[in-house]
Amino acid sequence: MAPEADRVEADRVSVGGRGDPQPPFVVTATDGEARAGVLRTPHGDVPTPAFMPVGTKATVKGLDPGELHSLDARILLGNAYHLHFRPGADLIAELGGLHAFMGWAGPILTDSGGFQVFSLRDTILALDDAGVTFRSIYDGGEARLTPELAASIQARLGSDVAMCLDVCSPADTSRARLEEAVRTTTVWASRQITCPRAPGQLLFGIAQGGLDRELRHRSIEEIAGLGFDGHALGGLSVGEDREAMLETVGWAAPRLPADRPRYFMGIGDPEGILEVIERGIDMFDCVLPTRMGRTGTALTSTGRVNLRNARHARDERPLDDDCDCPACVRFTRAYIRHLVTQEELLGLRLVSLHNVRYLIRLTAGARSAIEGRRLADFKRETLERLGSDPEEARCRRQP
Ligand SMILES: [Zn+2]
Repeated sequence: MAPEADRVEADRVSVGGRGDPQPPFVVTATDGEARAGVLRTPHGDVPTPAFMPVGTKATVKGLDPGELHSLDARILLGNAYHLHFRPGADLIAELGGLHAFMGWAGPILTDSGGFQVFSLRDTILALDDAGVTFRSIYDGGEARLTPELAASIQARLGSDVAMCLDVCSPADTSRARLEEAVRTTTVWASRQITCPRAPGQLLFGIAQGGLDRELRHRSIEEIAGLGFDGHALGGLSVGEDREAMLETVGWAAPRLPADRPRYFMGIGDPEGILEVIERGIDMFDCVLPTRMGRTGTALTSTGRVNLRNARHARDERPLDDDCDCPACVRFTRAYIRHLVTQEELLGLRLVSLHNVRYLIRLTAGARSAIEGRRLADFKRETLERLGSDPEEARCRRQP
C-alpha cells in the first residue's frame, strides 16, 4: 500500500501549484474534434472522455463508493448547493472533507450551485453583481450565494475540481436577459478566480449564452480569458431543441482552449454522450443512469429495456449480453424484473449499477476509438445496435 500512498501524495503536490511543470490536463490523442486525454487531480488521474456519476448529496443514489470503484468510475460529482444546506460545508470539513466523509478516495468535482438556484426560478429573490438571493429548497429560508461563498464552500468540501458560480438561463430566456446572464457570469467568474482554494483544487469557468452564437462566443472569450484550469459549457440541456443544442456544442466546444478540459454539464444518454464526444467534449455528467435505475429501466447496447414490461418475466438473459457488471454476471432479466416490480431495493440498485457501468464502458470504448482514429465507425456501430430493437428504440426517446 505504501508505494500507492506515496504516489497519491506525489500527485497531490504536483498539481495546481504555481510554476507547476505538469499541466493538469493533457490531450493524448485526437480524432477529428474528439480528444482523448488525462485530467490530473489531487486524488488521481482521470482518463478522458470521462462520464461522471452524480452524487449530489455526497452519494450516488443507491451505490456504495466501493461499488463505483469496481465499476471503474474515476470521478464523481458532488453539489455545493445541497451540501451547503445539508449537512453544511463546515461539518464536512470538520470530518475531514468530502472524500473522507463519503468514503470515496478518487477525484470529486463539485458543482457550484448556480444550476440549482437558477433552475428553481420561482425561488430567486434578487440577482446582482455580488451574488444571488433565493429561498432555500430545504426550509424556504432566505439564502444568498456569492462567488466568494461558492469558492469557500467548495474549498471546505475539498473537491478536486471546483466550478464557478454562474447564471444558468433556461431555454426560453429572452436575448436581453441572456446577455445580462452572460455579463453577470463573467463578473462572478472574475471574482471567484481570486478566491482561496483547497490544496491543488482546480477551478473551471462556465460559459453561458444559450444557443445564441454571438453571446456564446462572447462568454467563451471572456471566461477563457480569465485563465481557468478547465471550461464548461453551461446553460445547455435545459429544455432547448436537441438538434440545436448539439449544433451549438459543435461550434462552441472547439472555441474553448484546446489545452484545457471541456466539460458539458448535464448529458448522459448514450446517444448524447457520443454526440458531444465527437464535438470535442472531454467530461460530462448526468443523473440519468441512477434515476432510470430507480424506475427500472436499463440502458443496454441494444437500447433501453423497461423491466416493468411483462415480456421480461421469463427472460433468462442478462440485462445486456455485453456487460460485465454484477447485475449482468449474476442475475437474469426475469429475476431483476421481479425485484423491480416488487419495489425491492436490490432490483433498483442492480439496474443502477448496470446503467453506470454501461455508460462508463461506452465512454471507455469511445476513448479507445479516438486513440485508434475510428470514432466515426464506433459511433455508427453503437448507434446501429442501440436502434436495433424497434420497441426499445421507441422507449429511448422517453425521458
Ligand atoms: Zn450490466
